[in-house]
Amino acid sequence: MSTPNHKIRLIMELRSAGVTDTRVLGAIERVPREVFAPATFRDRAYENTALPIGHGQTLSQPSVVGLMTQALDLGPRMKTLEIGTGSGYQTAVLTRLCRRVYTVERHRPLLAEAEQRFKELRLHNVTTRLGDGWLGWPEQAPFERIIVTAAPAEIPAALVAQLAPGGVIVVPVGNEKRTQRLVRVRMTDAGPVSEDIAGVRFVPMVEGLPPEAKEQG
Ligand code: SAH
Repeated sequence: MSTPNHKIRLIMELRSAGVTDTRVLGAIERVPREVFAPATFRDRAYENTALPIGHGQTLSQPSVVGLMTQALDLGPRMKTLEIGTGSGYQTAVLTRLCRRVYTVERHRPLLAEAEQRFKELRLHNVTTRLGDGWLGWPEQAPFERIIVTAAPAEIPAALVAQLAPGGVIVVPVGNEKRTQRLVRVRMTDAGPVSEDIAGVRFVPMVEGLPPEAKEQG
């Protein structure tokens, strides 16, 4: 199967942005981003930009998805928790690289659309949940990996508590969009080891559920 030009161009852009892990690049190449983009932006699905998905939320920029996935350092047997399903694009990339992805989203309509896409693409190793990501997913813990795709002011303690020994969490930290940092924390025998990966811009991680999700749920 030949790769279309716009995809090749995107992969080259990701490489120059620092995404060098060939497994990560391969996973991104295999996930059709146009399926996750709203119809009016479908022609821009392979540009290295974030795209609006409604409810004031965004489909993450491919280079950021690449850097975060690379920082996670996934293995095929790992269980991963994702907070902030959004369009489900990052989720789909993760499903290609680990055993199962548990993903939590607070907006019911976004979650429903993402679930539809997972079905369409026959991604069977993903489990979804409508809920508040600040609480994690205690019933499924511990997780070898946790990724947060909305920015909290501080790393939520409940998430750190749900990491397996040797586990890794990747999270954009900061209130202000201009000063957010992508942070990786690894739980070692000697305690947590924190690293700064890059500057990023994410929508804020909000506490609780929106009113419409509560009413129906
Ligand atoms: N990875 C997604 C990015 C979505 S934007 C993608 O590529 O499409 C961030 C998402 O986090 C939004 O959908 C937002 O609703 C969600 N979010 C914000 N705070 C949350 C919380 N406390 N719990 C669960 N999801 C949250």
